[in-house]
Amino acid sequence: MGKYILSIDQGTTSSRAIVFDKSARIVCMAQQEFKQIYPEAGWVEHSPQDIMGSTMAVIAEALVRADISAEDIAAAGITNQRETTLVWDKATGKPIYNAIVWQCRRTADYCEKLKEKYSDLIYDKTGLIPDAYFSATKIKWILDNVSGARERAERGELLFGTVDTFLMWQLSKGEIFATDYTNAARTMLFNIHTLEWDDELIKLFGIPRSMLPEVKPSGSKFGYTHKSVFGSPVPICGAVGDQQAALFGQLCTEEGDLKNTYGTGCFLLMNTGERAVKSRNGLVTTLGATLTEKPPYVLEGSVFVGGAAVQWLRDGLGIINSADESESYALKVQDNGGVYVVPAFTGLGAPYWDADARGLITGITRGTTRAHIVRAALEGIAYQVEDIVRAMQRDSGIKITRLNVDGGASKNDFLLQFQADISDLKVVRPQTVETTAQGAAYLAGLACGFWKDEGEIRATASGYGVFSPNMPEPTRAKLLSGWEKAVAKARD
Ligand code: ADP
Repeated sequence: MGKYILSIDQGTTSSRAIVFDKSARIVCMAQQEFKQIYPEAGWVEHSPQDIMGSTMAVIAEALVRADISAEDIAAAGITNQRETTLVWDKATGKPIYNAIVWQCRRTADYCEKLKEKYSDLIYDKTGLIPDAYFSATKIKWILDNVSGARERAERGELLFGTVDTFLMWQLSKGEIFATDYTNAARTMLFNIHTLEWDDELIKLFGIPRSMLPEVKPSGSKFGYTHKSVFGSPVPICGAVGDQQAALFGQLCTEEGDLKNTYGTGCFLLMNTGERAVKSRNGLVTTLGATLTEKPPYVLEGSVFVGGAAVQWLRDGLGIINSADESESYALKVQDNGGVYVVPAFTGLGAPYWDADARGLITGITRGTTRAHIVRAALEGIAYQVEDIVRAMQRDSGIKITRLNVDGGASKNDFLLQFQADISDLKVVRPQTVETTAQGAAYLAGLACGFWKDEGEIRATASGYGVFSPNMPEPTRAKLLSGWEKAVAKARD
């Protein structure tokens, strides 16, 4: 067996390939950005050639950098931008339209109509709130708008895939037509209770069943890359949506385990084990990564503006020179001085779901300085995360005591300490924050026997940063009440 695991991370703005060794450490990494296509306001597409080309390029570069060849790879795992939709010709492999990216709002009006009648049905079956993010209405759009597509689909000539499926199909030259539970769960076509494509939903969106891939556990033997692709066949043993990959990469495999990724936005995912928890607070229910036929259920909530608030301090207000500088400014003052920043630039997500809310800075006095505003903006990220943590606690009945974190803004110690204080829980940051790629690598490595079990991986994890809560309860209550009032103003 090869000595390495190859993790392929096909993200929204770039493709990356990372090689891991037996001790689960990163040997090398290659990354390539690609073009975002905006054909109309609110529309977002990727060229399928860019997705494929950048992926092939980074794999080749990673192998060269590690000075290894395909035979040295025990298995490859894929993690991908979720929900992004491709439709291609079964005979030629040629996509009939660009990839419609998860952010694309072109089907938003249709989804509003859908909500009036089908919200409950869709939520009960898929755990999702009808939205243009998810793949179903994007497939329907392609079938309705590309000339001749619907007829060809009905004749069984077209295939649909999220990016994992598309990559596996291309890398295997059409041998693998499959996806995993985590990606299927984000299409709005998959029943997360029966673990099958749902006939009623397929009919509702007018999507022929023959277009849909086989669904497998995230850690599975999906098949092999075609020998012409890398010189010799490489087994593909992992496919997983990016957020669930991060959850697995953080080894959140037990009920109650929770992770937050502090990126441009924040993504919180909580493993709820065998229970598909119904949310009363606007969270979605989805599936997690597994090596068995029984994927765990996951509660998911997201914050629209996370690290983007720091980008705004830098690029919009110009009051810091770099994102890193936000930390030293925040530490220049003892507290927020009564200032709150609610970064509701594009409305507020869970648990408020208020599209009309807008950002605000409140509590400014003559004594307010740049440092107070920077600090309040970082705190604003943590409060939004706390709102979701609380919603998850209420929905699941599980008392959360630990939050595992990753993502670009998680290197900010001030932010993590404030999170620990305001949420009254332990915040744990792993040594490498490449948890998404790690998750795909762990799944592939476990599925092919490269690693014996999870324990073997856990034993190699080291260098955790731990932030423990250290705020008097009255202070915490006062700050939370200030945040609540600020949110109320942002929603007024
Ligand atoms: P994404 O994957 O969403 O592109 P990343 O995980 O790369 O995001 O994180 C980038 C985000 O993290 C940016 O919004 C940036 O402003 C923020 N960020 C980066 N470094 C820091 C820092 N030291 N403190 C606070 N925010 C930061």
